[in-house]
Amino acid sequence: MEGWRDRLTADRAGTTERLTALIREFDDVVESARQANADDEHDPEGATIAFERQHVAAMISQARDRLAGIDAALARLDGGGYGSCEQCGQPIGDERLAARPAAATCVRCAARQPRRASAAPPGSRSRHDHGRLSEQAVEQLP
Ligand SMILES: [Zn+2]
Repeated sequence: MEGWRDRLTADRAGTTERLTALIREFDDVVESARQANADDEHDPEGATIAFERQHVAAMISQARDRLAGIDAALARLDGGGYGSCEQCGQPIGDERLAARPAAATCVRCAARQPRRASAAPPGSRSRHDHGRLSEQAVEQLP
């Protein structure tokens, strides 16, 4: 099963790199927002920046989820249980693991689970909630 470890380790390095880049991008967007707000609170560009900020925050949250999934998979690789579905205990299958080495569930269990809320596109939230959700996203950052 050492092949999986290599895949996971490479995936982890790539995801960490991506996360670092996203956090840097988020800082840039926040800085732009600060400057835009100083100019004019009702600047149409302000809305674009708010959307951009939420979009980057969503990608950061996805990258963190992915990293957590990779770490969990590496832990299963060390402690046993890697390759078995954590829901039903059946083998996940090499084909699925080849596509998603960090997969914790088999295809059937994954299909039963609804996608996580954090993966929802920004448009699916009501307009009214935008401000509050952005603040929550900011609080999750280091
Ligand atoms: Zn399963």
